[in-house]
Amino acid sequence: MKILVCISHVPDTTSKINFSADGAEFDTNGVQYVINPYDEFSLARAMWFKEKQGASITVITVGDASTEPSLRKSLAIGADDAIRIDVKAIDGFAVAKQLAEIVKANNYDLVLTGRESIDYNGGMVPGILATLIDYNFVNACVGLEIDGINATITKEIDGGTEILSSTLPLVIAGQKGLVEEKDLRIPNMRGIMMARKKPLTIVPSNNAELYTKSIKFDKPKEKGACKIIDAGAIDELIDLLHNEAKVI
Ligand SMILES: Cc1cc2nc3c(=O)[nH]c(=O)nc-3n(C[C@H](O)[C@H](O)[C@H](O)COP(=O)(O)OP(=O)(O)OC[C@H]3O[C@@H](n4cnc5c(N)ncnc54)[C@H](O)[C@@H]3O)c2cc1C
Repeated sequence: MKILVCISHVPDTTSKINFSADGAEFDTNGVQYVINPYDEFSLARAMWFKEKQGASITVITVGDASTEPSLRKSLAIGADDAIRIDVKAIDGFAVAKQLAEIVKANNYDLVLTGRESIDYNGGMVPGILATLIDYNFVNACVGLEIDGINATITKEIDGGTEILSSTLPLVIAGQKGLVEEKDLRIPNMRGIMMARKKPLTIVPSNNAELYTKSIKFDKPKEKGACKIIDAGAIDELIDLLHNEAKVI
């Protein structure tokens, strides 16, 4: 089974987020980047298929050279080879089009993505990709078993789970639960050394059209100072909620 894992290179969740003075661009100064956490769950599940069922794993990122550490880390975790499509990712539709070309050329049986990127939270790449390549698609997956060309997928639904069957080829958007958190992989020294020798192919952009362009970003308003009210002062609380906060 040939697996492609799509890796999004995103700011660490602890990063302090700032924008350029005109608010038009994300300010990358001092920001640490990591593999998108949802993609880590997908990569860990891919590793299970590699170790138990002999699957091969290619990891892919649409991004400039600054995204390569996430690909190298994926190789250190155990992916066999990596592809970087050499263009900045600034539009989910364009990213899906770039990925689709590679999938079509290489006939992957299973494409694993994350449910959403934790930076821009578009949640659109996997669905658009599946449509462009005409693969079956299941979103929000918390479980995946493969037997031959048959897949059994557990999907999160409101308040519970749904179990579906499908056949390969298939696109899966994974999330927490696809593997247990304790089964996420941390690269060891041997993996890091081996990753240096594994192939990382740089593919030129297909110049996919950009459909959206950000104009301005705004941060949430700063929280006001807290006001402590005596536990018994119900009238004062109601007055403040009504006349000052204007929420009741
Ligand atoms: C430097 C930079 C500048 C950006 N500027 C803008 C901007 O101006 N406006 C804006 O809207 N967005 C911007 N983005 C975000 C960009 O749109 C998204 O990274 C990309 O388009 C994915 O869209 P999404 O959020 O819908 O991904 P989602 O659909 O939320 O991602 C779901 C899954 O798709 C896969 N995936 C997503 N992106 C990639 C990728 N690049 N390569 C491989 N797999 C991927 C991953 O598996 C991911 O878990 C910028 C990103 C970067 C790195």
